[in-house]
Amino acid sequence: MKKPIIGITSSHEKENGLRNYHRTTVSIDYTKGVIEGGGIPIIIPTTACIEIIKEQLKLIDGLILSGGPDINPICYGEDFKEKMGVISPERDNNEIKILTEFLKTGKPILGICRGHQLLNVYFGGTLYQDLSYFGKEVLKHRQDVYPELEVHNVIIEKNSILEKIFGNQVRTNSFHHQAVKDLGKGLRAIARSEDGVIEAIEKDNHKFCLGIQWHPEMMVARGNKEMAKIFKLLIKKSC
Ligand code: MN
Repeated sequence: MKKPIIGITSSHEKENGLRNYHRTTVSIDYTKGVIEGGGIPIIIPTTACIEIIKEQLKLIDGLILSGGPDINPICYGEDFKEKMGVISPERDNNEIKILTEFLKTGKPILGICRGHQLLNVYFGGTLYQDLSYFGKEVLKHRQDVYPELEVHNVIIEKNSILEKIFGNQVRTNSFHHQAVKDLGKGLRAIARSEDGVIEAIEKDNHKFCLGIQWHPEMMVARGNKEMAKIFKLLIKKSC
């Protein structure tokens, strides 16, 4: 059987300094996650041109919206708060166009970290620009070291994609300073850490449209077989 091709979105990175090089970049861990799950990874470079994007998307059977910089808060109707991080308007523009086109196909979508937040914003939801605005003290969600380290529990809702994979809870890594606040239209929060921070969402009426706040690809790339189940299911649904 032909292995499904999974497109991975990328960053448009601008090097500081005199050379001013611009690059397409994305962690190789996403590639490893897709391969471990049984798919063929390809990287989608950013472009603003919708005709090019349409042709790029014809090549893929499933989509991963990868992690990256913060989403411009104007996308959810807010100005910048003090603790906002770095943004990439080129990437926001590119991935919103990609989502608009790819959603028409009904094919599987997995959003990871920024990608999870992007799904929420795309459907009209909002974000905490920093977890210090959550309204109470929360866990340390932005770890500094050990990409594969499980640092918090995630409690999973019944009748969700994640329940089918992991049961009612799973331990995960955590590398984010923002989180989903108000949910977008047609989305359901399907998992939370013990402090109440939303850690996963899924979309109604879609065969596989899942957002995950943690980084399963970092764990899979470092030997975690349990987390590979997320990629295996994405690839199965992409067949
Ligand atoms: Mn977390």
